[in-house]
Amino acid sequence: MASQLTRSLKPTAIEAVSGVIASLWAAFIGFELADHDVSVLGIFSVVLALLATGLMIGSRVQDASRSELIKCLEPGCNTQIRVWHTSNADVTRLRELAQDHSKHGPAT
Ligand SMILES: [Zn+2]
Repeated sequence: MASQLTRSLKPTAIEAVSGVIASLWAAFIGFELADHDVSVLGIFSVVLALLATGLMIGSRVQDASRSELIKCLEPGCNTQIRVWHTSNADVTRLRELAQDHSKHGPAT
């Protein structure tokens, strides 16, 4: 069971593609800024910010694609639980908690 909960360190296709796009995007913007007499520190800051943003977006997309959103079945209740990197037993337990309104009460 522990092997189900550990995450592989190898990048997935989504992470690899987002990393390449973020790198190309950052490099393009960096070269554009270099043509406009921007300081090296300014270019470095912008490139790092673009890389971090692109990689974060890829990571969020990856998490969203692997996660499951479980909503309460009670009309008008907004309770929802997003699960990922979780064992099947925990998914079952959280599904029961989210879908049975009497177990969690009204959302605040
Ligand atoms: Zn509910």
